Amino acid sequence: MINNDFEGKIINIQRFSIHDGPGIRTVIFMKGCPLKCLWCSNPESQKFNAELTFSKNYCQNCGSCIPTCQLGALKIREGLLEIDRKRCNNCGECVVACSNNALKKIGKDYTVSEVIKEIKKDQAYYRRSGGGVTLSGGEVSAQPRFAVELLKESHLHGYNTCIETCGYQKWDILSRIIEETDLVFYDLKVLDPQKHKIFTGIDNSLIIHNLLKLSNLNKPFVLRMPIIPSLNTNKHDLKQFSDFVTTLKNIIRLELIPYHNYGVYKYESLDISYTLNEIGTPNQEDLNETKTFLEKQGLNVNIQLGG
Ligand code: SF4
Ligand code: SF4
Repeated sequence: MINNDFEGKIINIQRFSIHDGPGIRTVIFMKGCPLKCLWCSNPESQKFNAELTFSKNYCQNCGSCIPTCQLGALKIREGLLEIDRKRCNNCGECVVACSNNALKKIGKDYTVSEVIKEIKKDQAYYRRSGGGVTLSGGEVSAQPRFAVELLKESHLHGYNTCIETCGYQKWDILSRIIEETDLVFYDLKVLDPQKHKIFTGIDNSLIIHNLLKLSNLNKPFVLRMPIIPSLNTNKHDLKQFSDFVTTLKNIIRLELIPYHNYGVYKYESLDISYTLNEIGTPNQEDLNETKTFLEKQGLNVNIQLGG
């Protein structure tokens, strides 16, 4: 029996997506991820708790929000609003005091029923386009019970289901989610375990272990690889990567996701530093060269812009 009252923490429900599976889709961005990829364009999805963001560009430094904070975490210093992150407990009480939308609370609890209600709004588009629902993140498998209930309920409504996963979860838990999924998008950043650890915070052995398990299911999947200049684009890394990927079964294609820095402003709004400022975005020529190299190794490759 499906538990429609089960709650998950979500950062955003995005309608009309065309990059996250077949057709027109509703994408559920879940909060919390065990990885901390340095290039992450959604840093607000990394922590599991709700978080306060502060967009300095919108702030008029009027001070109206200050009295709403019971913890004294807000103050004006030298004419500018400051948040003491050590005091702030991310309660979000200050958000309503700001008419300029400079403050936002990211992360809201939804029941399965509440999410389904949102998804239903676009069901006519799913039917016409062959679309459906995609659970993304953060990391979908970090909220496994919620994910399974939501995927099951989506199937009951006749919606196609996809997940986008980093694969870092015990296989018996991840496989329960995959059972309820029509198409899996699985991330593999780089084969070298040390590089993986430096750039994501964790070693990739569990991710590779699970990918091999996925490959042995009779379920086609899409592999995704972010293209990060100076991390995983030299010929040695690409060869190591393709030597492994060509041994996988049931892989439909490899999608290359070019690095971009569109999410840098989000780091500032969370008062966390962005460390990849020196890395440029890959140009079309470099992307084509990487694609051609991987194709020559026998892979079906496409470049996925807007990821
Ligand atoms: S989120 Fe809560 S604790 Fe943090 S600054 Fe706003 S009111 Fe204060
Ligand atoms: S965050 Fe909003 S309410 Fe607070 S000082 Fe800035 S503009 Fe004023």
